[in-house]
Amino acid sequence: MFLKSLALRGFKTFADPTEIEFGQDSKITAVVGPNGCGKSNILDATRWVLGEDNARHLRVAALPDIIFAGTDKRKALSMAEITLVFDNSTGKLPLPFSEVAIKRRTFREGESEFFINKNLCRLKDIKDLLLDTGLGEGTYSIITQGQVDAILSSKGEERRLVFEEAAGINKYKTRKLSAEKKLIAAEQNILRINDLKVEVGEHLISLEEQARRAREYVETQTRVKEAELGLCKKLLGGLLEKKAKLEGELSLARQAAAAKVAAEEQDEVTLDTLKGSLRKIELEIEEQQVKLDSEKDRLRDLELNRRFIEGEIKREENLCADLQAKLDALRQKTLALSADEAAQGNAASSLNELEAVIHDSRELVNQLSLICGSLGRDNAPKLLEQKEIEATINLKRELLESEYQRSEQELDRARFGLQAHRSELDTIKPAAPSEMAAALSVLKVERDKLRLGISDLEEKVRREGSAEKAAGDATNALEIALAKLEGEMLGLTEKVAADYSLTVQELDALPYVVANVAKTRADVEAGKQRLRDLEPVNLMAIEEFERTKERLTFIDAQLIDLNAARENLRNLIIELDQRAEDSFTQTMSQLSSVFSETFAKLFAGGEAKVALAPGAPVLEADIEISVRPAGRKWLPLALLSGGERSLCAIAILFSLLKIRPSPFCFMDEVDAALDEANIGRFTEMLKDFSAATQIIVITHNKRTMAAAANIYGITMEEPGVSKVISMKLSETAI
Ligand code: ATP
Repeated sequence: MFLKSLALRGFKTFADPTEIEFGQDSKITAVVGPNGCGKSNILDATRWVLGEDNARHLRVAALPDIIFAGTDKRKALSMAEITLVFDNSTGKLPLPFSEVAIKRRTFREGESEFFINKNLCRLKDIKDLLLDTGLGEGTYSIITQGQVDAILSSKGEERRLVFEEAAGINKYKTRKLSAEKKLIAAEQNILRINDLKVEVGEHLISLEEQARRAREYVETQTRVKEAELGLCKKLLGGLLEKKAKLEGELSLARQAAAAKVAAEEQDEVTLDTLKGSLRKIELEIEEQQVKLDSEKDRLRDLELNRRFIEGEIKREENLCADLQAKLDALRQKTLALSADEAAQGNAASSLNELEAVIHDSRELVNQLSLICGSLGRDNAPKLLEQKEIEATINLKRELLESEYQRSEQELDRARFGLQAHRSELDTIKPAAPSEMAAALSVLKVERDKLRLGISDLEEKVRREGSAEKAAGDATNALEIALAKLEGEMLGLTEKVAADYSLTVQELDALPYVVANVAKTRADVEAGKQRLRDLEPVNLMAIEEFERTKERLTFIDAQLIDLNAARENLRNLIIELDQRAEDSFTQTMSQLSSVFSETFAKLFAGGEAKVALAPGAPVLEADIEISVRPAGRKWLPLALLSGGERSLCAIAILFSLLKIRPSPFCFMDEVDAALDEANIGRFTEMLKDFSAATQIIVITHNKRTMAAAANIYGITMEEPGVSKVISMKLSETAI
């Protein structure tokens, strides 16, 4: 396995894509160039692609500073990318490829991407890949002047770091640091959680009582609810039964009432019909009565008329008789008058007779006048005005004669009238009112029957009315009872809905059963009283108590875990210390012998040792380096010359490289302080090492350059931008 090439793009001064190839035969490659041209940037690039993330180790303030920052002429770039290509034909890298490329890319935003053979991967994958290659942590793939300085440093810690790196204890240290941080965090957590446990425990005690009350409250509430709902269910069931019964009764009552109403209506219709018939009969009776009455009146009138006619007849018979008598008298008088007339000579003697005649005449006149009046004639009074007696006699005769005639006429008339009256009387026949009366009485019998029937029917209707009223009352009573019952049901339904948000159907579906209503009622009341006694209740306390209990259990478990973790961390730290110590001790012991050898080579004899200062723990002890150059005494490092000290440090670094071999090793100006003689021994050493390790040496020293099979010159033709020029050793002007 060897490094085939290093490709840089956008990394620090390597703005343009640049590739440095390392041939398999070129075991030593020198990178040369003036100060600041970017030689060490190649080293940084190698460090970075191998996973270095420490900005200080990469010689920048912050990681994005590794990206080309731009020059007067060039814009800054946004990405840096480094690729190391290894020849893997020996299969050292556990990948089935003869060539393996490791690439790292970063952007100004800060994120990095890693690739193995163009496949995106994690940094860890790269580290794992390189783990056993000598390019991993604690290996000497990069040796810098800084490490030489560190070894020479008077500060024990700085020196130790170089050796620790070689011993690979950095990983233990890092892990220990992390374990210690975790331990501190665990300790703090234990403290915090212990405090929390106390606090939660106290809270739990107060919650326990609250939770007990709340639990009792909830249980009582559940009991009350079940009992109350069972009660409601039972009551509702009872009410429903009653309701069904009442509804049945009501329906029957309504039917009965309706039947009664119908019967009454029927009877009323019949009654109306009967009343109509009665009215008709009564009218008929009235009419018949009127007829009868009028018949009676007519008969009475007839009777009166008959009596009148009979009276008239009698009177006329009398009148006729009178008139006959009068006529007879008048005939006598006329006869008498005719006799008198003959005897007339003495008026005086006859005056008194005349007066008697006048008197008689007058009476006759009066009678005649009366008769004439009755006969519609009125000419008698004229007779009275005749004063002269003679005239009177003539007149008397005339009068008598006329009277006689009139009386005859009158008698005729009277006889005629009598005859007429008699005829009329014959015509007057009394009717037969008895038939009418009989018919009337039949009607009356009929009427009376009707009246009786009506009265009976009215009585019946009255009875039916009372029965109907009774039925109505019964219906009303049932309706009121039903309404009351429905009210009770509604009350229960509303209560169930309001208190428990349940419908009747939901209530019905509940399994609660109540055996004894009175006892259950008492239980409900007692339960409610208990609830009132318990109030106020923190219902959340139950859950909170359980949660807090769980939390306390969790805290306990956490404490157990944390204590275990603390114990583990303590053990881990001890173990890490032990492993670091072992590793360090082993490395130091390995190094001790290799160093003496290397020293002898570089210093052309002599011996050297590196050891831990006694009296201090292995991982804290200073590292003491003492040398005994050929022909001299043991000396501490500090007593050597500057060049000797540098060579001594280089001997240590070579020794470290020996015990921790790496496929390649970059050396950055480690030869800076060496004189000609020492450079010679140094380059010899380089050559020795190059048998096992590819050496890329950054140097200003021409003899070092001369030891290289291949040289790359780094220039800055364009200010700020590195450019690589490959130079064959023969072409290089040394
Ligand atoms: P010397 O021989 O003195 O050790 P060198 O050749 O090793 O010098 P480097 O240390 O590799 O030089 O390069 C240092 C140069 O790189 C400095 O000029 C520095 O400004 C430049 N540089 C560092 N980071 C960036 C960057 N991100 N972009 C541009 N230039 C950078």
